[in-house]
Amino acid sequence: MANADQITAARHGHSRPHLTNGASTPNKSANSNFQCDVIVIGAGFCGITAIHRFRKLGMKVKCFEAGNGLGGVWHFNTYPGARVDSEVPFYQLNIPEVWQSWIFGERFPSGPELQRYFEHVDRTLDLSRDVFFNARVNDCSWDETELLWTVKTHQGHEAQAKYLVVCTGLLHYTFTPSFPGFDRYKGEICHAGAWNQKFTTKGKKVAIIGAGSTGVQITQEIGKEADQTTVFLTTEEQLQVRPYYPVLFKAGRQSHAGFPSERPPQGMFETSAEERTELLERLWDVGGPAFALNGYGDVMFDPKANKAAYDFWAGKVRQRLKDPQKQKIMAPQNAPYYFGTKRIPLENDYYEVLDQPNVSIHDLNSAPFETFVKDGVVTADGKVHTFDAVVLATGFDSHTGSLTHMGLRNKDGTDLKDTWEDGVHTYLGLTVSGYPNMFMGFAPQAPTALSNGPTCIEAQIEIIVDMVRKMELEGVRWIEAQPSAEKEWKASIDGMVEGTLFPFTNSWWNAGNVPGKKAANMLYVAGIEHYEAVCRDKLDGWKGFDVLH
Ligand code: NAP
Repeated sequence: MANADQITAARHGHSRPHLTNGASTPNKSANSNFQCDVIVIGAGFCGITAIHRFRKLGMKVKCFEAGNGLGGVWHFNTYPGARVDSEVPFYQLNIPEVWQSWIFGERFPSGPELQRYFEHVDRTLDLSRDVFFNARVNDCSWDETELLWTVKTHQGHEAQAKYLVVCTGLLHYTFTPSFPGFDRYKGEICHAGAWNQKFTTKGKKVAIIGAGSTGVQITQEIGKEADQTTVFLTTEEQLQVRPYYPVLFKAGRQSHAGFPSERPPQGMFETSAEERTELLERLWDVGGPAFALNGYGDVMFDPKANKAAYDFWAGKVRQRLKDPQKQKIMAPQNAPYYFGTKRIPLENDYYEVLDQPNVSIHDLNSAPFETFVKDGVVTADGKVHTFDAVVLATGFDSHTGSLTHMGLRNKDGTDLKDTWEDGVHTYLGLTVSGYPNMFMGFAPQAPTALSNGPTCIEAQIEIIVDMVRKMELEGVRWIEAQPSAEKEWKASIDGMVEGTLFPFTNSWWNAGNVPGKKAANMLYVAGIEHYEAVCRDKLDGWKGFDVLH
């Protein structure tokens, strides 16, 4: 592996006047108009990892972030009850100086705790000096003569760099369905993905629309009368485990989903009924992601095994709901879709809260919205539901939303939203043909949504940084994915979901949650370890890339 000095030496060995090094870059204006080596867009886990790793490579890196703080989704999703469902220690950056000086207070950290964590990350790595906050990118173009990306923001920044690394995440651009008559509604409206801190629900009659992970967390928080049950972690517990963090992080990286986990070797019905029940009960009691990650592997392939997993889950849910009508809606006899083909939300006492008399459930499958009115909504069964405020937990224009709303133009000047109109194409989930020297982290056609975010991000950013290191050492001026390699990539990831139950369900996982958007497999379902091995093999000899020296 090359170090920072080797990279700088290699750079100066090849005459590329546009490329600057950290020490001598002449900023046209210190604040808003400058050149650097790498421009990163977005300062969540992915952008932070990129800034840190490129700095270590000795490159001058600057970042544009639309929010006024670090954290990405954890900066914007500040709704009551926001909490991660990946447990400590896995949901954090694998950067020793950061984890050695931080203790989490909860097994599944809350939104406010994660915000404090990002403040700690900032203090430890001194990130803010390289991040422009409140800087929303609205134009990115490639100059074929200078071989530079120019990135502009809505606020007037303009920067140039040889490399563009887009870290804008899967879930940034909020989705609000076009409800009939919604403009007639005069009460308050708040979307969970862009939470307004001034919005309060106390003492109000609130309608929550959406029952994904976000809707579950909000309902659990604002619907309850009792105090929330939180699973706390002591400092001692964490200090005892901390010496093993490097081993745990490594095991996460070498796993399928970013958590070291193992499934039984047998299928669901290859074991006796007693063994099956014993395992399912044990995993249920462990909580967190154990039921999904350590259960029988054929649940995602075999409809019969899938039904058995659903029946077990539904039985547990029915026990927690006394109201038979609510039981029927929340845990019907027949699963509305294959179990696990939509994200299983983390919850503590969601069903107990739903069971409270102050919470009513309306099943939109039996009676959809007919029209919104001034103070509520009328449903197809003729019922009028009145309320003071609507909380929209209706999700995001997932996977592509952020990438197609930032003026990201290819070398011919065409916006990505147009080049992807007929379908998403990427190579390795990291690059796009027509976009030389542009890399994406946590973007479509990679393990993303099925994995622990920071682990997948770490693997991807390390690959991107190694690509850039290799380019610099080999004197490569640009690389660009070949369209044929993108076709092969798509065929290979689509081949992975064939035979699974994933293609039968539309959700944000396949971008089928937004009407009019073409549903397609967006995920690399074979896991992080497999993904990384395949990507690294492609780097060797630049397979699937056009390369200009
Ligand atoms: P989501 O999973 O896409 O859920 C959106 C919800 O809105 C669904 O219940 C959906 O119903 C409903 N909906 C959509 N259009 C509707 C319409 N026209 N009328 C009525 N309902 C409509 O979005 P999300 O809950 O924000 O979660 C997105 C992802 O963010 C999660 O899967 C997770 O990866 C992440 N997240 C994680 C955490 C955590 O770590 N704990 C917390 C929150 C979010 P249908 O399903 O019936 O279409």
